[in-house]
Amino acid sequence: MNKAYLLIGGNMGDRLANLQNAQTSIQSQIGSIILSSSIYETAAWGLEDQPSFLNQAFIVETTFTAHEVLKKLLAIEQSMGRIRQQPLGPRTIDLDIIFFNDQIIHTEDLTIPHPQMQKRNFVLTPLNEIAPEFIHPELKQTINQLLIDCSDPLLCIKK
Ligand code: AMP
Repeated sequence: MNKAYLLIGGNMGDRLANLQNAQTSIQSQIGSIILSSSIYETAAWGLEDQPSFLNQAFIVETTFTAHEVLKKLLAIEQSMGRIRQQPLGPRTIDLDIIFFNDQIIHTEDLTIPHPQMQKRNFVLTPLNEIAPEFIHPELKQTINQLLIDCSDPLLCIKK
């Protein structure tokens, strides 16, 4: 069984309902959620003139490969009517693979571990709640250490 470490988030529409719907789709289409973080709120990163984001992390047990999981996440995003006009702008739902077992993947459509994750509190804080001792396979540091060292000024607050 593979373990996929996912981060879900969004800042448009009914943010809580969107997280809930995404969670339901992940359970039915990808695999069992064996650990789930609290929901966290963070000001928008990059473009700041937009609603704040809600984020949540999951560990999902799945028989699918990382590329298969990516395909399914993109399909869920589309089915939920993801709308986004600009690269760092508002979106209904964003589903990312942060880690996949301890695999390192650099292909055109998939980068794992997710690039820049170590620079963002909104990724590290929820993950630290469910996998503090997980070791980043490239940086060779635990999530907890990466969070302690992270200089992201945006606060990530438990809802
Ligand atoms: P974004 O919505 O900004 O996260 O970008 C979506 C695109 O990022 C997708 O079409 C994927 O091909 C690509 N991508 C690359 N690495 C990842 C990853 N680890 N998780 C999710 N999407 C990824």
